[in-house]
Amino acid sequence: MNIEEYIAQLPAGAVRRRRNGSYTVVPRTRMGRLDADLLDAVNRAVREYGLGGVRLAANQRLMIDDVPESALKGVVEAVGLVGEDCPCAVQSCPGSVSCRRGLQDSMAMADRLEKVLASFEFPAKLKSSVSGCPMCCAEPMVRDVGLFGCKDGWTVAFGGNGGRRVRQGDVLAENVSEEEAFAVIRKVLAFYSENAKKKERTARFMERVGVDAARSAVL
Ligand code: SF4
Repeated sequence: MNIEEYIAQLPAGAVRRRRNGSYTVVPRTRMGRLDADLLDAVNRAVREYGLGGVRLAANQRLMIDDVPESALKGVVEAVGLVGEDCPCAVQSCPGSVSCRRGLQDSMAMADRLEKVLASFEFPAKLKSSVSGCPMCCAEPMVRDVGLFGCKDGWTVAFGGNGGRRVRQGDVLAENVSEEEAFAVIRKVLAFYSENAKKKERTARFMERVGVDAARSAVL
């Protein structure tokens, strides 16, 4: 198996080829958490292959940069990456687990959201995040799917984008229970998946179809 075939059988986004010919390996770090085993494995791989260290991306993912082709398989196997990546990784703030302002458990919500997202096929890249209170530190209002906790439940936003054409997500539900929030999310994702054009991100989709159409779809 050559290197391209090897990368192709890994989960999408697990290994990225860089312009200088090296690779970036992306270990799975659910909700930005690294347990002791993963920390040990990453440290061992960095030392064994003489790499320069690691980098944290803006979306809380750990990047092992500048991996030469000769070390790629060894690094991937060392960090136990295979089958552990998720193209719809959800960003989360610490929430009520460890933030004194936290009103809801954003990490548990993000974990559940990630599983829901994995059951869909989307026409374009989809980013999402969950915050434990209206301070919105994980920036859910500028994500395709955004959730933030309130005193009495959750607010659900859809169609946000933090890129060059910034768009604030449309609020589809406020102060709803966890179950109600997921019912709304499933419906709006189904509506988006069925009606969006290929490669149309949710922000452009919402501008095209209008928030009323999305609200009707989730009612
Ligand atoms: S959004 Fe709220 S709970 Fe989350 S880190 Fe910020 S202040 Fe804390």
